[in-house]
Amino acid sequence: MWDAIAISAVAMTGIIALRYFASSGAFALATNIKRPGYHAKLGDQIRREIGWSLASAAIYGIPAGVVAWGWQERGWTLIYTEWDAMPLWYLPLAPLAYLVLHDAWFYWTHRLMHRPSLFRTMHAVHHASRPPTAWAAMSFHPWEALTGAVVIPALVFFIPIHIAMLGLVLAIMTVMGVTNHMGWEMFPRRLVHSRLGSWLITASHHQRHHEEYRCNYGLYFRIWDRLCGTDRGLSERI
Ligand SMILES: [Zn+2]
Ligand SMILES: [Zn+2]
Repeated sequence: MWDAIAISAVAMTGIIALRYFASSGAFALATNIKRPGYHAKLGDQIRREIGWSLASAAIYGIPAGVVAWGWQERGWTLIYTEWDAMPLWYLPLAPLAYLVLHDAWFYWTHRLMHRPSLFRTMHAVHHASRPPTAWAAMSFHPWEALTGAVVIPALVFFIPIHIAMLGLVLAIMTVMGVTNHMGWEMFPRRLVHSRLGSWLITASHHQRHHEEYRCNYGLYFRIWDRLCGTDRGLSERI
């Protein structure tokens, strides 16, 4: 049994590392086309970003691997695979709930990590990327990575979700984690500056967090930043 759990954890770590290289690599390539020279002189920083991100892959991979094993072998979790196991209207609600809850968790843990007592130990690694690049998507100190690693593996025990919708959540998480750090806005201005856009977090919003530190703490939505008065709007540099 322990062998199977270990294999699952190692496999999940490998998948997350490959996902990181594929997604960050693709958007780094796009950055070279869109903003030629953006990565010039950032070679050492990018090497550090990749190193921390690979350590994060293991920290994310272990709980995810254990839970995946438990789901397959012991019937843990509320992940379902039959399309009619839950009413159809529920299908899109689950990923929305996951994103909203993950966003709330991220906002408050992120804000806490900006307290001087925690910043240096937990969060300074992430902010050492100046400016951040697509490779910084998982560039976290292991303590910070741990706060992120537990969210989805915990939620699958409480909120039923179809496996395809879980895949969607992970895809959104990956793409937004990478693109919010790449230094340019890939979404059309019309969306970013629309009423809907004013509630969503994209690169222009998170870039401002990296510029000014004490604002724009959210992950996907600007709800908590707006409620708590920490939203300073979009970066003017990208
Ligand atoms: Zn960041
Ligand atoms: Zn921060």
